[in-house]
Amino acid sequence: MNWNTNWREQAWQSLDETWDLVIVGGGITGAGLLHEAARLGLRALLVEQRDFAWGTSSRSSKLVHGGLRYLKTGQVGLTRASVQGREQLLAEGPGLVDPLGFLLAQYEGDGAGRLVYGAGLTVYDLMAMQWSHRYYSPADFQMLAPYISPTGLRGGFQYNDAQTDDARLVLRLIREAVAEAQGSWGAGEQGREGSAPPRPSGKGLEEGSALPRPLGEGRGEGSAPPRPPGEGWGEGSRALALNYARAQELLRDDTGAILGVRLRDMANGADGRTTDVRARAVINATGAWADHLRGQVGAESRIRPLRGSHLIFPAWRFPVAQAVSFMHPLDGRPVFAFPWEGVTLVGTTDVDCPPPLTTDPCITGDEVAYLMAAVTTHFPALSLSLDDVIATFAGIRPVIGSGKADPSDESRDHVVWQESGLLTVTGGKLTTFRQVARQALEEICARLDDDQATGEARLARLHDDAPVLQPVDDALPGGAALPEETRRRLLGRHGREAADLIAAAAPDELTAIPGTPALWAELRWAARSEAVVHLDDLLLRRVRLGLLLPRGGDDLMARIRAIVQPELGWDDARWAAEERDYRALVAAAYALPDRRDIPDWPAQLAAAEATRERAAVARQERARLRQRRGGLGLALVAVVILLLWLIHRHHRGAAPHA
Ligand SMILES: Cc1cc2nc3c(=O)[nH]c(=O)nc-3n(C[C@H](O)[C@H](O)[C@H](O)COP(=O)(O)OP(=O)(O)OC[C@H]3O[C@@H](n4cnc5c(N)ncnc54)[C@H](O)[C@@H]3O)c2cc1C
Repeated sequence: MNWNTNWREQAWQSLDETWDLVIVGGGITGAGLLHEAARLGLRALLVEQRDFAWGTSSRSSKLVHGGLRYLKTGQVGLTRASVQGREQLLAEGPGLVDPLGFLLAQYEGDGAGRLVYGAGLTVYDLMAMQWSHRYYSPADFQMLAPYISPTGLRGGFQYNDAQTDDARLVLRLIREAVAEAQGSWGAGEQGREGSAPPRPSGKGLEEGSALPRPLGEGRGEGSAPPRPPGEGWGEGSRALALNYARAQELLRDDTGAILGVRLRDMANGADGRTTDVRARAVINATGAWADHLRGQVGAESRIRPLRGSHLIFPAWRFPVAQAVSFMHPLDGRPVFAFPWEGVTLVGTTDVDCPPPLTTDPCITGDEVAYLMAAVTTHFPALSLSLDDVIATFAGIRPVIGSGKADPSDESRDHVVWQESGLLTVTGGKLTTFRQVARQALEEICARLDDDQATGEARLARLHDDAPVLQPVDDALPGGAALPEETRRRLLGRHGREAADLIAAAAPDELTAIPGTPALWAELRWAARSEAVVHLDDLLLRRVRLGLLLPRGGDDLMARIRAIVQPELGWDDARWAAEERDYRALVAAAYALPDRRDIPDWPAQLAAAEATRERAAVARQERARLRQRRGGLGLALVAVVILLLWLIHRHHRGAAPHA
C-alpha cells in the first residue's frame, strides 16, 4: 500500500461522497474506530489535524498493561479490559507488542505492604488466567535491579506486563484498516481510492439539500444501501485516513442535527483549503482536545488535561533489564524506569495542563526536577545527572475532570458521550482501544437504520473474536538472512508490508541505525510510503530517532537526508526548511528546558528529608510527652488512691465504738 507523494492530493479529491462515519482524531482511539468500522463494512473517513499519532498516542509510556494501580482505585472494569486487550495484542503482534517484566520495589515506609500488593497481583494475574508474580527478598531483588538503592529495601514483586511502540501501533491499525477495507494488499489502494469514482454527491441527501440526513433520521430513497457485513473483512466498506486535515467545524442543519464536518488542509499551515464532508455520523475522538467539538454542540467542558512527562537516558548510563517501579520520595506517587528501544525511559508526572493545547507539549523544569529526584534517590549508585538525559517528551492525558484536588485521583476510564448527535469517545488507555471502539460503534450501529437482519449481523460481527492485527507470514519473504530479532521487529511494526520494506531497501540499509534497533531501510520505507508530510513525522513517529538519539539524531542527518530526500521529492530549499523546523521542535519539546528553570532537586530532597526528620523528632517528642504525662497521670491516680485510703482509714479509726 503506497501513501506516495500523490496520495494526499488524490485522497483530498475523493472526499466528496457521503460517509457513514467521519472519525475526528488520528490517535489510538480514532485508529481503533477506523479499524473496527471498516471491519463492519462501514464507509469511514478518519481525519487528523496534525500527523497520525501526533497527540497523546505517540507520547505515552508505551505500556500495554492492565494498569495494576487502577485496581487500587477500584477501577476493576478498566483493569480487566486492559488485561484482555494486552493478552490479545501480545498474541497477535510480536515485534510490536512484547512482554515486559515489571519490578515493584518495596521500601520501609511505603504505603501499601506486601500483603496488599500480593493480593492485587493475584487478581491481576487471574484476570489473564496466569500466575506470573513472585515476591523477592531484598538480596534477590537487587540481583534483578542491580543499581537500586538497598537502603530501606524490604524486597519486592516481579510480574509480567507488555510494551509497544505507540505511534507504530496507531499506524499499523490505520494502514491495515485502509488496506483491508479495499481487500487488496500491496496494490496501491490509496491511489485507487484517489481515482475511484466518487459517489454522486446527491446520493443519500435530502431533497434539495447539499447535505445528508443525520443518523437516526432514516435513509431516504436513493441513499446508499447499507452494506451487509459479509464474509470478507470490510466487504463493501471503505476506509480512508487523512493526516493534516483538521475538522474545523461541525456542519449542522437548521434543527442542529449534525451533517458532517468542514475540513481544513493543514499540510502547509493554518490557511489551507477547506472542504465540507458529509457523513451520517461524526465521532469525536480528539482525546485531550475533545471539548473543542463538544463546545460546538453546546456541551460543557469536561476534560481535565493532565500532562505526563518522561526523561530519556541512554541504556548504558541507566541500565535496567525490565521496568522498575518505586515510590517517589517527595509525594509517594509511583514512578518507573523502563527499557524501550535501547534507551531507558523514566516517567511520569501528572500535572494540570490547562488549554489551549495548540503546540507540542513539553516537560517543565519542575517536572525534570521531580523525575531526577526520584531516580537519584532510588539509583544513587549511578550518579545520574542532567548531562545524561538525551531527550524528553510530554503527553496530555485526556482525563475526565471531577474536581479532585490531586490530579492522580481522577479516574482514567474512558467515556462515550452522546451529545446532540455528536458521539465523543475519550479518556481511557492505549491498551483498551478495541473495547473502546466497540462500545462506541455499538452506539452508532444502534442508530443505523439497517434492516433487522443486517443490524443483527453487524452487531454480531462487532463482538466477534476476529484478530485485531492481521496475521503475518512469519517466513517474511526476502528476510531469511535477517536476525530473528530484526524479522520480528519488521513484521510487528509493518505487518504484511514488511516484505515490501525489505524489497525497497538499498543493499546496506538492512542494518541498524547506530544507537538504535531501527533499520535504515525503515527510514526509506516510511519516506516512500507512510504519509510523511513533515520531517518530524518521519523522525518522531515513523522511525523514532528523535527520542532515541541525542539532539534528535542531528549527527546522522547527512545520511538520513541522502536516503529520504529523494523519496520525499523535496528540493533543497524544502529540505532546509524542514530540517530547521525539526531542530526547533526538538529543542522546544523533546529536549531539557533551560537549566536555569530546573529547580535544585538535591536541595528539595534535603529539605524534604529535614522536614521528615523534624517530623520524626516531633513524633518522638510527642511520644515522650505522652509517656511522661502517662507516668504523671499514674502517679496522680496512685496519690489519689492513697489519699482516699488514708481518709477511709481515718474515718474508720475515728468512728465511735459501738
Ligand atoms: C504521559 C502518558 C503516559 C501514558 N501511558 C500509557 C501507557 O503506558 N499505556 C496506556 O495504555 N495508556 C497510556 N496513556 C494513555 C494513552 O496514551 C491515551 O489514553 C491515548 O493515547 C489517548 O488516545 P486518543 O486517540 O484518545 O487521543 P490522542 O492520541 O491525543 O489523539 C487525538 C488526536 O485528535 C487530534 N485532533 C484534535 N482535534 C482535532 C480536530 N479538530 N480535527 C482533527 N484532529 C484533531 C489530535 O491532533 C490528536 O492527534 C498515557 C498517557 C499519557 C499522557
